[in-house]
Amino acid sequence: STAVRQDSQAARYVQSIYETVVRRNPYESEFHQAVKEILDSLIPVVEKRPQLAEQGILERIVEPERMVTFRVPWVDDRGKVQVNRGFRVQFNSAIGPYKGGLRFHPSVNASIVKFLGFEQIFKNALTGQAIGGGKGGSDFDPKGKSDGEIMRFAQSFMTELYKYVGQDTDVPAGDIGVGAREIGYLFGQYKRLRGAYEAGVLTGKGIGYGGSLARKEATGYGCVYFANEMLQSKGLSFEGKKVVVSGSGNVSIYAMEKAVQFGAKVIACSDSNGYVYDPHGIDVNTVKRLKEVERRRIRDYIEEHPNAEYVEDCSGIWTLKCDIALPCATQNEIDEEAAERLVASGVVAVSEGANMPSTLDAIDVFHRHGVLFGPAKAANAGGVAVSALEMAQNGMRTSWSFEEVDGKLHEIMRNIYRASVRAAEVHGQPGNLLAGANIAGFLRVADAMLAQGVV
Ligand code: GLU
Repeated sequence: STAVRQDSQAARYVQSIYETVVRRNPYESEFHQAVKEILDSLIPVVEKRPQLAEQGILERIVEPERMVTFRVPWVDDRGKVQVNRGFRVQFNSAIGPYKGGLRFHPSVNASIVKFLGFEQIFKNALTGQAIGGGKGGSDFDPKGKSDGEIMRFAQSFMTELYKYVGQDTDVPAGDIGVGAREIGYLFGQYKRLRGAYEAGVLTGKGIGYGGSLARKEATGYGCVYFANEMLQSKGLSFEGKKVVVSGSGNVSIYAMEKAVQFGAKVIACSDSNGYVYDPHGIDVNTVKRLKEVERRRIRDYIEEHPNAEYVEDCSGIWTLKCDIALPCATQNEIDEEAAERLVASGVVAVSEGANMPSTLDAIDVFHRHGVLFGPAKAANAGGVAVSALEMAQNGMRTSWSFEEVDGKLHEIMRNIYRASVRAAEVHGQPGNLLAGANIAGFLRVADAMLAQGVV
């Protein structure tokens, strides 16, 4: 039978764990959402393996091993003292050192950091690499800040974070608001405090000082590789398809680039202010220069491409008709209504480049209508997978070619796809890649936890 019995003993047990999480972490709606999504997928697993309940694996996995919150004081260009809040959650270290990005965005709080850190556990396990789950960040808003302000903030942030990270303990990287520039400043400060060159303490570094080729491209390329696997399973491809890619940051830019290489036409992308629609196909090089070099807004795209249209409403991007949707902006950008509109307009595949971009209701809509759905944990795992390859290169004091890293990334994405398909089948939910990815990632971590005893 494919239906999960919601009234079974396993379902009641899982529900009780969810209720404990809600009680212990009041008002943290994003964290609750991420936990619910995982726990619901695990009911058939708990049914099959009572040992998981006996050993308290679920009770343990929803509780971070450690969470630190710290003050980040810095001086702005006017000489005024500013204070932000810093976070690092070290969620699970069963299969490797904590690994996960840092997000600098005004929306960052304990709930956001915990939802991201929790998802990271399963995502990282899916990559097959030896990396545990963690996440961090700050409510610092990089928008409109000078280079000097960014540097002073990053140095102050690392002065505190320094105590908790290390190449064998916890390895941060980028996320929203943290790119190569910020990683550079963070690394410089870590090296200075540590008094040693430990390249493996951060990933997403510049190519000249320990970074990996293809790391910058990895999340976006991986998201398209994953979508391509889903399409191929139905005899479809990107060739000639209309694609909408939200966002215009590091994930979005390289998802667009690979989709175009695969023969698709990307008709729109966005930033937090609005979206551009270009009927001739978005010129990815313009977006790259505007965002990566000039640090401007996506509205400036139409200055150079007068045929394109700019709409000052970022969520409006999901009213456009497309064959393939790649949400690469942020959490909960696709709600039930947006999902229904995408389905009505004939979308065939959705591959999540951002973390948790679809609400639980939106995911239900995609599943009910047979849309190929690539969940974030699987579809955007390429970034952290190549971060693990960066750590490997740092450890070996070597560097691999772009083609070598990209080849390994492609292979990893294929393996994640296959593992997710298989786990879904084995647990009675064929075709449900969300359930499959959650189960496959969970089992790898759970088996390691069982082997290591009650810790
Ligand atoms: N922030 C990315 C993610 O959500 C990458 C993390 C990393 O490379 O450690 O997976």
